[in-house]
Amino acid sequence: MRDWAGRLEQRREQGLYRKRQVLGSPQGPRVRLDGQSCLNFCSNDYLGLVNHPQVVEAMAEACRTMGVGAGASHLVCGHHQAHHALEHALAEFTGREAALVFSSGYAANLGVLAALATRGDLVFQDRLNHASLLDGVLLSRATLKRFPHADHQALKAMLKDSESAVSSSSQRFVVTDGVFSMDGDLAPLDELGAVAKEHDALLIVDDAHGYGVLGSGGRGSVSHYGLSEEDVPLVVGTLGKALGTAGAFIAGPRLLIDYLVQFARPYIYTTAMPPAIAAATLVSLRLAEDEVWRRDHLQALIVRFRKETAALGYRLMASSTPIQPLLIGDAREASRLSQALLGRGIAVSAIRPPTVPEGSARLRVTLTSAHSHADLDQLLDALAAEQSSIGCSQTGATA
Ligand SMILES: *Cc1c(COP(=O)(O)O)cnc(C)c1O
Repeated sequence: MRDWAGRLEQRREQGLYRKRQVLGSPQGPRVRLDGQSCLNFCSNDYLGLVNHPQVVEAMAEACRTMGVGAGASHLVCGHHQAHHALEHALAEFTGREAALVFSSGYAANLGVLAALATRGDLVFQDRLNHASLLDGVLLSRATLKRFPHADHQALKAMLKDSESAVSSSSQRFVVTDGVFSMDGDLAPLDELGAVAKEHDALLIVDDAHGYGVLGSGGRGSVSHYGLSEEDVPLVVGTLGKALGTAGAFIAGPRLLIDYLVQFARPYIYTTAMPPAIAAATLVSLRLAEDEVWRRDHLQALIVRFRKETAALGYRLMASSTPIQPLLIGDAREASRLSQALLGRGIAVSAIRPPTVPEGSARLRVTLTSAHSHADLDQLLDALAAEQSSIGCSQTGATA
């Protein structure tokens, strides 16, 4: 037998052991975590829609009229009219011919890659892409090639190099996060789109953190760059982040969406998401689109956070999104700071290897439109106090 216990012990010794805290309240700017009330800067509920009365009511009402579970997979008899309506709304929202709803972003990414890519194909991925995109390539049996983060020139060189190696029947893909989940920065979609087109590779963008937050009406990073379906053929979005519900979607040309319905195993061999989730998402999508003040307020918080933490001497990352990591370096130091902040009633997660590269542990602050300026004051005060008392300074922050 493998030494499972030894590997666990090693995790503990490295300061990398992960513990789950128990949430005893709705997600929001103030939560109960492990029985303690605290101010919360860890959620992906960027627009504060998780507990919005209209979204809650839509879900409750849908449960009363449609029941709770879908009761079957989409291709058997679980494809409810609520799913169908949501797919139409998402196609319209993203300006695409068609959209397909999945039970999670993880499943959507496995689905799109496993269905479209196959043995002999090459999938070029940004080094910092989400784990589900890497796992999707494993499921597809295609060959994974990782390019340096956000480096379109390196990608171009790799695509060129691969030209002689690939057979005429093999397809190449370029896959990137729109907004990088642990860094908060944006992929250079304009340049990646041009490179992909030039080399006849299919570009897929996972915009889990972009939809709702970026672009006009919250139409994500593709819209932020002013790109079209021709530039970025396929987009993946999640519903459990800014939209406040659960699940995910893939949107693009009808032909490819039809193909996914036939061939995406993570779509086919799973129970459909509860129809009430789809009904609630129809409401949160409308709120996300129409209530522009949420994005405006969020942007004001982001600008303030960056200005004031930089003044305190924290190391920021190149992010203009609600994901605002403070680079610490050492994994134990990041954990300790996270604990110290919790002691002050503020929840900020420490992100450590293997989620991020060795030596780049960080405090990952996420801001939401449900935070007030007074909430931000409280976070900044605590960060100021920790900065001077623990000495999390520029020099102390290297691993
Ligand atoms: C969160 C996330 C996913 C997974 O989405 P879930 O709906 O939580 O499974 C996929 N890709 C990226 C970039 C993400 O941040």
